Order: sequence, then C-alpha cells, then structure tokens
Amino acid sequence: MLSALIRGGSAPWLLFFGFWAILCLFAAAELWRPLHDGGEEPGGRIAGNVGFGVINAAIGAAVPVSTVVPAQWAAAHGIGLMNHLAVPFLAAAVATVLVRSLATYVMHRLSHAVPLLWRVHRVHHSDTRIDLSTGFRNHPLELAIVAPFYAVVTVACGLDPRVLAVYEAVGIVFTLWDHANLAVPEPADRLLRRLLVTPAVHHIHHSSRRADTDSNYGEVLTLWDRVFGTYREKPQAELRETRFGLGDAADVGASSFLHQLRAPFAGEAAPSSFASEA
Ligand SMILES: [Zn+2]
Repeated sequence: MLSALIRGGSAPWLLFFGFWAILCLFAAAELWRPLHDGGEEPGGRIAGNVGFGVINAAIGAAVPVSTVVPAQWAAAHGIGLMNHLAVPFLAAAVATVLVRSLATYVMHRLSHAVPLLWRVHRVHHSDTRIDLSTGFRNHPLELAIVAPFYAVVTVACGLDPRVLAVYEAVGIVFTLWDHANLAVPEPADRLLRRLLVTPAVHHIHHSSRRADTDSNYGEVLTLWDRVFGTYREKPQAELRETRFGLGDAADVGASSFLHQLRAPFAGEAAPSSFASEA
C-alpha cells in the first residue's frame, strides 16, 4: 500500500480506476486458485487492514509523499547526480529503476534490523493470514519514515520523473500481487521469479519463522535479494504449511485495529520478539 502512496503522475483517475480493476481481478483470482487456505478467518482482521489503507490514503492525499514530485523538482532545477551530468534517457531510465528498487530493498532491510523501525514495520508482519488486504496493512508512521528517505534518494541521484511515475504505478500492482493469496502455476512462477517477485516469494517473507522473514525484501524485482544473498524460495506445497504472523505472543491482538494502531508504542521493540525462531 505504501508504494501506492509514494506515487504520482498526471493521470490520477486512470490510476484510481486501474487500481480498483486490478484489485477486483486479483480478488477473483484468490477465490479461483488460493495458495493456502489459511485456516479460520479472525474477526475484524480485514476491516482493520482496510482501516489502515484508508488512513494511509487520506495522508497520501493530504501530503505530497510521491517520489515523482521531488524528481520533477530536481529535474527542473538541475539538481541531483544524473540531472547534473545530463545522462541520456535510456541510461537514466535503467539507473532510475535500479536505484529506486534498491532504495526499497535497503529501507525494508533497515525496517527489520533497526529496533525502532521494526516497532512500526512489525504491524505489517503481525497479520496471521496473508491476502490482498495485508497489502493495505501498514502503520501510518511507516509512511512518515519511508517517504522522506525515498525523496532524499530521488533528489540526490536525480532520478527520472517519467520513469518513476511508471515504476510507482507498477509498484501499486505489485503491492497487491505480492500479498494475494494466489497460486501461480509452478512453471510460470519459476519463470517469473527469475526477475520478479511473485506471491510465493513474498509470502515467505511473512512466515512466522525468523529466517524466512529475514529474506525476500524486494517488492517488484528479486534482483537485490539475489545480489545480497537474502533470496529464498520454497515449493508451493511447503508454503501451504507455513504459519504467518509473528508467533504466539505477537498474535494476541493481531486482528484488532486499535491494538495494532497502538502497537509501535508498546511492547518489545527488538526483532527478537518473534515467538518461533528458525
Ligand atoms: Zn518486512
């Protein structure tokens, strides 16, 4: 969901209708080919997840959190490495995709490694089931943390605003796709994950086993996980047995919106609060 807010572009209505069309498509696909049955649905979980989505969308509408805005500003003023060097478009486009996806990877790893950041990010991980609604589940403080980081990277590197607008739109689709409870046919999944994150790849990141959670940080590309040795994959049959969430202790209140809203300000901050270790 955060990537949906760290966006911009000149066609907000196209994004709006496109978002809902793709959401409906993935929801139908979840019913058709679920990756796992997930057990009993905890009361209030989906409503709470959607509640986080509504709050974040309201913040995103009120505050310019898009990476496209700082990129346009930097381009107009000739600020940032690639703007300063007047890099040709093709090279700038490739560099923009690589740097932007690397920024997501770095921020996500920091969110797991730094206790204060983990206090906030763990709200996303405490969901005991994984489906489309999990994509909406981010504490509003997370947006306040990641948006300035991405803006600084964007301006410092002089990322191309046109390429960023496309990347962020693709990021919206991947926020939904990564969390969808959707079993992509294994041969297609194997082919896709050579380059792209699939539900089977990202769901490992939501496992309650610490070794699994500390892997597959990518949102769109599997590239940086492969480069930095954090890429992990499992057969879909094994994924069906995977337990999601943070473990017994953290599962209490996991489906309560108010409990999760207060969660960053209470309890253990350290990632070691996982109840079940690898
Ligand atoms: Zn994470």
